[in-house]
Amino acid sequence: MSGSKPEPRGWRDLPLSALPYKLSLEYKTGDWRALRPVIDQSKCVKCLMCWLFCPEMAILWDGKQVSVNLDYCKGCGICAHECPVKAIKMIPEPTE
Ligand code: SF4
Ligand code: SF4
Repeated sequence: MSGSKPEPRGWRDLPLSALPYKLSLEYKTGDWRALRPVIDQSKCVKCLMCWLFCPEMAILWDGKQVSVNLDYCKGCGICAHECPVKAIKMIPEPTE
């Protein structure tokens, strides 16, 4: 046999019924995302409702502004739905 099988690079490379086999710190669940949240900082009132509702703890707060850890954001859109001022827009991930 020549060479080893390449590592899957994202969810589109995985076969149906594939299971994750890495530790959560290694396994970037953001690989599964089809949509990503984009925050309009000019609209954000820093209420942190997005942080409260995010099921992946992917919303970050540095004391000044909110951002998204895309390594772990799965693109569910709950943050955008819960944002009271509609500061978060979900946009499609590039397919390439
Ligand atoms: S899209 Fe979902 S996982 Fe990503 S930051 Fe928003 S609530 Fe969290
Ligand atoms: S829910 Fe909306 S307004 Fe509140 S902190 Fe998050 S992005 Fe900002």
